[in-house]
Amino acid sequence: MNASVQKEGFDLSSRHDFGNPSEYLDQCKLVVSYYLFIGIDTITQSVHYLETEDGYLQIIGKTDFTCPAIIAQFKRSIQPVKVQIMEILKDYIKNSRFAIGFPTNAIQNGLVTKEEFDSLIADLIAEFERNEAAALQNPPPLTELFKEYGLEPHPNENGVDQWLASCPRCRKFHIYFSNKSLRWGCTYCGFHGEGEEEFRDAMKIIKEGSSKNGK
Ligand SMILES: [Zn+2]
Repeated sequence: MNASVQKEGFDLSSRHDFGNPSEYLDQCKLVVSYYLFIGIDTITQSVHYLETEDGYLQIIGKTDFTCPAIIAQFKRSIQPVKVQIMEILKDYIKNSRFAIGFPTNAIQNGLVTKEEFDSLIADLIAEFERNEAAALQNPPPLTELFKEYGLEPHPNENGVDQWLASCPRCRKFHIYFSNKSLRWGCTYCGFHGEGEEEFRDAMKIIKEGSSKNGK
């Protein structure tokens, strides 16, 4: 079978950007199953893969609570399939951990063994610690401003210059900022801007809104 959508990338939403794999999950092979810590609870996530006839690699995730979804789709590279899947899985875990959760340990062997998966997670944790230490050496200029508003700025650990603070508007997700620019923004609610003055003005509007709602 062919991919239903000819594009590449990750899908962290539940929109089924790459089509719905529910009907053909029995044709997909297991990569690995693992426990996923989601902050208040631990659930089981299973990851499967399928190589389509038109040359795409689909990575399918399924949890105790969610139907199978294509979490990533990329053109098959020249690397062995296992190497390519390990790289995709690593990027997926890095980028989904704030919205979804972080794996604790593998529970079932597939193409990737439990030991291989657990060592991938250990490598990631070591990478986060290195990134955090490097980021703290060189905090972005807006860090003090976000501290002043009680938004708990901290390194996001995916890179040495990426930082997060609580989003004051949606109060659900983070505003991203870095020491490469003065821009700040929340990808969840769209709250964004550039520089200290614009942030202070935006905070005044949020405070006025919440005091009106409180009356
Ligand atoms: Zn937000």
